[in-house]
This record gives sequence, structure tokens and C-alpha cells, in this order.
Amino acid sequence: MNFERITHPAPTSPAAREEAIANPGFGTVFSDHMVTIGYDEAKGGWHSAQLGPRQPIPLDPAASVLHYAQEIFEGMKAYRHPDGSLALFRPEANARRFNESAKRMAMPELPEELFLESLRQLLAVDGEWMPTVEGGSIYLRPFMFASEAFLGVRPAKQYKFIVIASPAGSYFKGGAKPVKIWVSRNYTRAAPGGTGAAKTGGNYAASLVPQAEGIANGCDQVVFLDAVEKKWIEELGGMNLFFVFDDGTVVTPPLTGTILPGITRDSLIQLLRSEGLQLREEPYSIDQWRADATTGKLVETMACGTAAVVTPVGTVVGPDGEFTIGSGGTGQLTHKMREALVGIQRGERDDPHSWVQKI
Ligand SMILES: *Cc1c(COP(=O)(O)O)cnc(C)c1O
Repeated sequence: MNFERITHPAPTSPAAREEAIANPGFGTVFSDHMVTIGYDEAKGGWHSAQLGPRQPIPLDPAASVLHYAQEIFEGMKAYRHPDGSLALFRPEANARRFNESAKRMAMPELPEELFLESLRQLLAVDGEWMPTVEGGSIYLRPFMFASEAFLGVRPAKQYKFIVIASPAGSYFKGGAKPVKIWVSRNYTRAAPGGTGAAKTGGNYAASLVPQAEGIANGCDQVVFLDAVEKKWIEELGGMNLFFVFDDGTVVTPPLTGTILPGITRDSLIQLLRSEGLQLREEPYSIDQWRADATTGKLVETMACGTAAVVTPVGTVVGPDGEFTIGSGGTGQLTHKMREALVGIQRGERDDPHSWVQKI
């Protein structure tokens, strides 16, 4: 599919851009352009691929996404490598997961090559938006929503796929600070048979009240337990978890359909295994977590996801009070895995798994 290129009538001046990316934080600064591709069942599917100015989207008030929430998204980062090139980390994994999410939400799949070409097109015009601050990246947000004006309940026949780019600083200012986690007892994130494994906005909407409850209790993030027994640890609102034991083994909850299959999670599993560590995907309960942290059998807990890469969990606030993981700081393996993954992503270390794709 050919991309139509629409010239930006008033691009940001280099000076204004430099200022905007000097200290961009996360999710508030956007580049000048966006990619849009339409889908219309009556037109035979995907059509009208466009690279143009980033601007508001015309949307009919009856667009079914606004009523029945057919929406999915991805999140990934582009990095500037030491040789000056731009690189993506496992973008084909995002393309695949995007289509898994699409299937679950009764939305059309986007050919993986079209997904990848969209990222390349956008980075080719907006690569200059890469922050120069340490830990900087361009966060890419591909998403798709039902745009058909129709209030009946059925899968829509028209969709829009869009990619926007947002320059981002280091997710946590001053490095990876240990996070304090709230164990949600009143709310769950995903039920068996639900949409927990799809990257869809509704899962996030459902997590906001428990997240607010966590913040009101002095925590940074929420950990969700399984919806059936309220016993098994699943994940945070947007990060997967790994538990490290004093015998060197590592456990992460299995993908049973209620957990988002993180690409950082999958990368960590492969890295840990290639380090010769024993990694098991098996259920781990909140009571065991507390008991093991207390006896010292559990020495570290790491949270992982694209935004923060690998982050230590320092303290857990549960219904039976607080407990600390290890010394409450950053554990050895957490530090090592963070360095390893960030090093590969930024082109500062060897990439034995061929995860990095230069643009
Ligand atoms: C996106 C996401 C993750 C992390 O996935 P990555 O591919 O590692 O960024 C974890 N949990 C949830 C709920 C997510 O939406």
C-alpha cells in the first residue's frame, strides 16, 4: 500500500522543538506528524494510508468506539543508537500482539508489514524529535478504533488505525526507584474469558479506581489478584511481575488469558534463561509472597513493561499490612536485567537474539 504524504503547513520550528524535547516527561509532548489508515468493509478493507500533520480526528458522535469501546493500542519505543541511527525493539512482536488484540475485540487485523511500515514512515519524518536527554526515546502509540456511525451492537464495519509519536524522557526521573505497590482487594482487572490479554482501553478504564485507591494509600501502583480465588498474583495495571528467590530461581505468573503478554516479560524470560537461571511460569499467591518476603526466601520482585523497562518493587501494602522486598531497594538481579535490556535497546550491548531493528 502506498502512503500519501501530506506536507505539514506549519511544522514546529527547530528552536521550539529543541525546547519541547529538552525535558519532555512522559506523554505530553507530540511530534508534528501522524499516520492514518482507514478500514471499510464496503471498500474491501484497508485503504487510504496517509502520513500527514498531527491534527484532531473528525469523528461522528455515533462512532461506535464512543459507545461500545472497540479500541486497541500498542506502546513501543524508538531509540537513538550510538552510531546515530534510529532503532526499534522487537516491533514485529507489537504487530503480532496488535492483531491478537484485534481478534479478541472483533476488529479487523492489520497486515504486520503495514503496521511496521507505518512506524518507519512516521520516524522518517519525525526522527528529529528524539530527546537528547539520557534515557530519552520516542514513544510510539499505534491504535485502532471503530469509527462507524452506528448505535446497534455488532462489530463495526469501519475503523481507523493511527500512529502518533511522543518524545519521552526517562520514565522515572533519577533512575529506577523502587515502587510501592497496593494489593487491590476490592477490584480485579481481568476475569477468565474476559479481555485481560488484549491491549484495549477498557482494561485501563477499569484499573483507574483501584489505582486511585492505591495512591490514596500512599502507593505508586496496584497489583491485581486473580478474579476467581482472589489469591494468585497477576500483574500491575501496565506491567508484568517477576519474583526472584534466594536459590537463584525466578517465577513469573503464567499467561492464562487474564494477563497481558508483555514483550518485556518475554524478553526477560529469554534473557534469564540465557543467563542459565531457572525460570518457571507458574502461579504465585499473595500469601506466599508475603511469607517468602518475611523469611527472606524471596529476595527481589521486578516489574517490567515498555515504559519503565525493569523496575524494582520495594514495598507491598496488603490487607494484612505492609511488607518489604529484600532491603526495600534495588536488588542485584533487577539491576543486572535492567542494564542488560536497556543496553540492548540502546545499541550499547550485543543483541544475540536479534531483537533490535534499525530504521
Ligand atoms: C502493555 C502492558 C504490559 C507490558 O507490555 P510490554 O509489551 O512489555 O510493554 C503489561 N501489562 C499490561 C496490562 C499492559 O497493557
